[in-house]
Amino acid sequence: MARVAGFVIGLAFVAAPASAENVLSPESFFGFELGTDGEMARYPAVLEYLKQIAATSDRVLYQELGKTTLGNDYVLLQISGPDNLSRLDRLVEINRRLADPRGLAENEAIALAEEGRPFYFLYATIHSTEVGNGQAIPLIVHRLATEDSPEIREILDNTVLLIVPSQNPDGQVMVIDHWYRTKGTKWNRVYPDLYHKYAGHDDNRDWFMFTQKETRLNVEKIQNVFKPTVTHDMHQMGQTGARIFVPPFQDPYDPNVHPLLVAGQAQIGLAMAGALAASGKEGVSYNSQYDLWAPARQYMVYHGQPRILTEIASANLAEPFVSPTGAPLGPRETRWNFPRPYTKSEWRLSQIMDYGMTAVFGGLTHLAKYRREWLSNFYRVHRDWALRNEPPYAFVIPKEQRDPHALRQLLEILDFGEVEIHRAKSDFSAGGKSYSAGAFVVPLNQPYGAFAKTMLEVQVYPDLRYYPGGPPIPPYDVTGHTLGYLVGVDVEPVSEPLTVATERIENPAPERQPLPARPRWAYVIPAETNAGFLALNRLSAEGLDVFRAGGAFESGGRKFPPGAFLVPPSTKSQKILEELSAASSLQVLGADTAPPVEGFRMKRPTRIGLYKVANNMPAGWLRWLFEQYGFHHEVMSSVDFADLSKKYDVIVLPSGTSKSRMIQGLSSDQYDESWRWAYGVGDAGFAELRKFVHQGGTLVAIGSAVATARDLLSLPIEPVLPEAPPRFGRGGARRDDRPPVAAEEVERLFKESFQSPAALAKALESKVVDPTSVFYCPGSLLKQEFDTSHPVAFGMPERWPVFFAFDQAYRLEPSFDVQARVVARYPDEEKQAASGWLLGDELLREQANVVWFQVGKGTAVTLGSQVDFRTQTPATFKLLFNAMVQGPAAKLSKAELARLR
Ligand SMILES: [Zn+2]
Repeated sequence: MARVAGFVIGLAFVAAPASAENVLSPESFFGFELGTDGEMARYPAVLEYLKQIAATSDRVLYQELGKTTLGNDYVLLQISGPDNLSRLDRLVEINRRLADPRGLAENEAIALAEEGRPFYFLYATIHSTEVGNGQAIPLIVHRLATEDSPEIREILDNTVLLIVPSQNPDGQVMVIDHWYRTKGTKWNRVYPDLYHKYAGHDDNRDWFMFTQKETRLNVEKIQNVFKPTVTHDMHQMGQTGARIFVPPFQDPYDPNVHPLLVAGQAQIGLAMAGALAASGKEGVSYNSQYDLWAPARQYMVYHGQPRILTEIASANLAEPFVSPTGAPLGPRETRWNFPRPYTKSEWRLSQIMDYGMTAVFGGLTHLAKYRREWLSNFYRVHRDWALRNEPPYAFVIPKEQRDPHALRQLLEILDFGEVEIHRAKSDFSAGGKSYSAGAFVVPLNQPYGAFAKTMLEVQVYPDLRYYPGGPPIPPYDVTGHTLGYLVGVDVEPVSEPLTVATERIENPAPERQPLPARPRWAYVIPAETNAGFLALNRLSAEGLDVFRAGGAFESGGRKFPPGAFLVPPSTKSQKILEELSAASSLQVLGADTAPPVEGFRMKRPTRIGLYKVANNMPAGWLRWLFEQYGFHHEVMSSVDFADLSKKYDVIVLPSGTSKSRMIQGLSSDQYDESWRWAYGVGDAGFAELRKFVHQGGTLVAIGSAVATARDLLSLPIEPVLPEAPPRFGRGGARRDDRPPVAAEEVERLFKESFQSPAALAKALESKVVDPTSVFYCPGSLLKQEFDTSHPVAFGMPERWPVFFAFDQAYRLEPSFDVQARVVARYPDEEKQAASGWLLGDELLREQANVVWFQVGKGTAVTLGSQVDFRTQTPATFKLLFNAMVQGPAAKLSKAELARLR
């Protein structure tokens, strides 16, 4: 609904008199020249300065859009000539019309493009250690506010700038505060932890799930309101490569990106490269390293805009970086996409800022010169999607889903991304399948059809290799993101024009199902819904007992698979369930009599220790997830790593928790007492964790932490996939490192390597076969089978894809000491990928993913693949949630369950 409401623009500032001479220079405001080695402007001071500029300039508006996760101001500046600012509402209206051009004739669109002004949306420092761009913002704004050169005049007359001075203010504060706190001390000056409370560096992987406050502010209050023409996201990269990357990107491109945007990216990127060359800057690279596949990084390209990414080489925060060998920095070879190597061996903050500003003004100048073309093309992109007339025509989302809560989540995501959702007015069939009236329909002939299509379809990733049969060229990020699979909703593509009448709906959501009349025995929440855990945690927190059925049963004509939550009816429980049903589409049914099954009484509450090593993003995401679902948890501190069973029932080791990171942790020589929580637990702490499990605790290990759990508890599982370092991105210059043997020999060894583990080991040993050409899975959805009678897989379907990113699969080994049971495995099939890229399917066949163990009096659950990846995988959350809450649950006989006591 915030779609149309809400763009009230701070007009109060427009009346301020033009008085460039009143604008304080950055140097006099901050007390030092921005870019001075060893100094950085702090975020609150930057805002203060920008406010002052807005108060004295008639070119700059300052607006606080909301608060960040940790309560800092999230700010937007609007900058243009006074004439444009005084008609900003009209300019935004034009953008919005061009973004939804249905019914608009080409000549009308051209007239609007003539009247309008393209909007250039710039944001900096989503990654908080990439400080140079944030330092450049005050200089960019100052120049636009004060300079009267023809270049600036052209920009102000012909464009509107939207600037977010920091897309992650919390992190700016953390990183720069830490820098000043450690100044002149022996302590390490680099902030050692996640620079966003939850997402850390992954905060720019949230552009389709929209989970974090900052993402939502950006999309809901800027992208969806102003409809910018171009979005420029300023980053920094490593210290030793090229000095700056500008678009175009290298392959692969998501085929859903409109060709005008592919071309437009190159036009602006190369305009930037031209501006950099014109000002004598060296080390400019394009068509390299970064690709354009995953929507997690790029909302804009599905909303009519090119993605302008700049990545500038980093210094040591504000201190210069000096080449250790004294040789010049970066590649030495001249290429068409790297026309002039950098000739110096040093690199400093002021250069980062200078490169960044040159790129920004290069892009702005281009946009100003071609403003009509850009706005006309903005119109054409959306027109072409609105007129789309080819398969798939639409996606159908049946209203009957296993989990209405998941359905609600999927619809909310699409709606937040401004995808229009319809409902079928009658029963219909399409593609040989029948659907009932009320099915949700997502037609692709709509302005943001690109977003709907990329999110709902299955990804077929190109098989990119360094040379035929050679190692895969790593993608920059994950390769599969099919939303239905991720969330746990059935979605069907329709490859013929739909014949059923539909109507567009606002605020799409599953039909509300009222609570049944108070049942004589128990409220029943089917195991299939993630919302069952919302109910469990909420009821537990309110002091109410919750039970689970251990087997399948039938009640009131409905079949419940094992694991249904059972809630004794009371006024209090009824009220809580009613609230959750309205807010989260929690499905609640009733049973008047107890079925003849055994069950569980859930511990109240299950006390969860979330183990977090410093700077571990999976732990950060889990922290967010546990808060969302109301789990009773705390981030464990190595300070009190003793008597664990007194504090916790369950300890979770997120992916990335290696044994060495646990034991060593942050060094007390480098980080002061305030980091004590992240110091290593030492060998003694590691042994305490073992004791915790043997005495009855539950350990849950995910992804790479499975190796840690295996070590800790001598779990009888063997990894089956070749070890290869996880590698996203193409940092290295590995263009063609063919092995020094004939191609036939490589092929022979490669084929043999699949015949037995020994042959594989031999082939890898020879170094002729690259492990990544044997097995490679950089973030895809893989097929999976579940044993839904096991408590860890309660509520899962028998088959559903799991997320897998550089993870491991396992083979069970015979053991006398430890009981093990496979809960989820890869099917006995030739092809294992459901969406995305996978090499080496055969190695996964029938291997174990999720395994449950009895160890001493306790249990361990290993989740081999990252079933919680960036918390973008609600479909498989249940595996983790069950593993946690079932550990300390008490087993009940049939009679005990019937009494609900
Ligand atoms: Zn970055």
